Amino acid sequence: MSKLVLEAKDIYKSFNEGKNNVDVIKGLSLAIEQGEFVSIVGSSGSGKSTLLHILGGLDLPTQGSILLNGRRFDQLGEAERGFLRNQHLGFVYQFHHLLPEFTALENVAMPLMLRKDMIFKEAKQRAEYLLERVGLSHRLTHQPGELSGGERQRVALARALVTRPQLMLADEPTGNLDRNTAVGIFELLADLRKELNMAMLIVTHDEQLAKQADRVLHMQDGLWV
Ligand code: ADP
Ligand code: MG
Repeated sequence: MSKLVLEAKDIYKSFNEGKNNVDVIKGLSLAIEQGEFVSIVGSSGSGKSTLLHILGGLDLPTQGSILLNGRRFDQLGEAERGFLRNQHLGFVYQFHHLLPEFTALENVAMPLMLRKDMIFKEAKQRAEYLLERVGLSHRLTHQPGELSGGERQRVALARALVTRPQLMLADEPTGNLDRNTAVGIFELLADLRKELNMAMLIVTHDEQLAKQADRVLHMQDGLWV
């Protein structure tokens, strides 16, 4: 049997809104194997982003457990979770969240520069390689504002991959792009996944794109359907 990168067991998440408790995730379990490509499809408001935040340790479940490489992830402190996130996970969102005052190269090198043991020259080389890999070697010194939407999303991909994560969590990574650009980004993701032997969990509205995954999960109202 393959090794599990991520295992979430019986996850619940509620938000307090004044006097009311809003139940958003209602008992979801999920296991992702090394190198596996899983997609999640579901209508707006079904809890997809909330789940991805919890799986990536950006938020905590109200109930349930999350194991990253077999190790309990949700019971760690903020700092240790941040460390493991940087070591093992990559994130891509619908909006690129690049830092506007930095160049593409600096944005991509950033996750490596956060590592205490990383040498600037090596971080820069790896960032250059990833930017070349996403077809942007001619845009290294451009700032996000000087790039197209598709280019910015490619920079965001390169930034997510520069640490060579075991698992990439992507929340509607092509939701803000036109169809052709979205298809191109998906192809690139598929190639990079193979090249880096990385597992990938992608949330998308697009059933056609979702079908490219090894496994498609459908979510509705905080549950698998
Ligand atoms: P999706 O990504 O599938 O569109 P979300 O996970 O963003 O869904 O949201 C699911 C539900 O949870 C929505 O009804 C949303 O309003 C609610 N929700 C999300 N985050 C919060 C929060 N921080 N506080 C209160 N409600 C929230
Ligand atoms: Mg969402």
